[in-house]
Amino acid sequence: MRKVIYFDQAATTKPYPEVVEVVTDCLVENWGNPSSSYEFGKDARKLIEESRITLANCIGASPEEIFFTSGSTEGINWFTRELQNDPVYTTEIEHPAVIKSIANPQYVSLDKNTVIKTTEIPKYSKVMAAHVNNEIGTILPIKGIKDRNVLLFLDATQSFGHIPINVKTEEIDLMVVSGHKIHGIKSSGFLYASKEYLEVIKNYPMQVGGGQENSFRAGTENVAGIVALAKAAEISLKDRKEKNRKIEKIRNYLYGEITNKIPCAHLNGTANWSKRWCGNLNFRFDGYKGEELLAWFDVNHIAVSTGSACSSHSGNPSHVLKAIGLTDDQANSSIRFSFDETNTLNEAKEVYRVLVEGLEALRK
Ligand code: PLP
Repeated sequence: MRKVIYFDQAATTKPYPEVVEVVTDCLVENWGNPSSSYEFGKDARKLIEESRITLANCIGASPEEIFFTSGSTEGINWFTRELQNDPVYTTEIEHPAVIKSIANPQYVSLDKNTVIKTTEIPKYSKVMAAHVNNEIGTILPIKGIKDRNVLLFLDATQSFGHIPINVKTEEIDLMVVSGHKIHGIKSSGFLYASKEYLEVIKNYPMQVGGGQENSFRAGTENVAGIVALAKAAEISLKDRKEKNRKIEKIRNYLYGEITNKIPCAHLNGTANWSKRWCGNLNFRFDGYKGEELLAWFDVNHIAVSTGSACSSHSGNPSHVLKAIGLTDDQANSSIRFSFDETNTLNEAKEVYRVLVEGLEALRK
């Protein structure tokens, strides 16, 4: 395998060795259909239900409130389709899965920290937004939003496993999680729907067909993905405080070096760390092209991103950076560094060294 320093953890993550182990076990030993009534099928069913309990425990939910999906996009699309033309309050910095799927979006402004202005959200409305923004790391003020008595659909794709969430104490009504962002595997995830909301939505299944997932999401389950998700969630949440301290050290080092020593560098988004996920730094480098910097990192075996992985081939400037006030040129000169506890300070030092060399080499 190609050896890379991976600073693109917001795009996807490498499955933990323990995840690979449980997936292999599913594919080699436990490959039965969970709906079959013989023991071999029941073994697969047992794995699913144990995983459901594990995941419910991770967020303070009941197992009946967890529905397995193929990832966050699916859960988001299901909710927005079900709402049809209802106004949904959101922001212009959301992931395309949110922005493209809401039929009647109502955009709420952001404050100087790129945080949603909660006072602009009408009481008793419906809100859908990311807990942690995938491009600039902004953390959603859940309490301030819930104080508006709204229905909150939380896109926890970038936060689950990193920031502990309790859906009951934080009064989250619906939430999506994606396995591949937490060292699980791709095309796995779950939707949490609170019991109260289940009553409303039981007539709007995500997929119809067989009776899987309580007839809510038909189709033979992705047993390996589900088991991987539960294992990845357990591992991610373990010793989280300590892991976040390690990530903060990497952030502090990179931020300090880049802002103190590179005059053309400007942080996109807030430097108020209490409002930003510590595993995200997004810089613009005035006078440079992000694509060229990315290619420089790439030939030096470092993976970073110019925006979200999904939009990085579009050639268009990031809608998130534009929404926070950058010009096209500024947005196109930006690089996102995203890292987690599996990265090291030595790797960050190499990232910085290669960046400095790249800025020198690419200077016009
Ligand atoms: N929401 C956010 C904030 C994301 O970062 C992503 C993926 O990058 C998604 C939704 C879509 O997630 P998935 O790949 O699981 O469909």
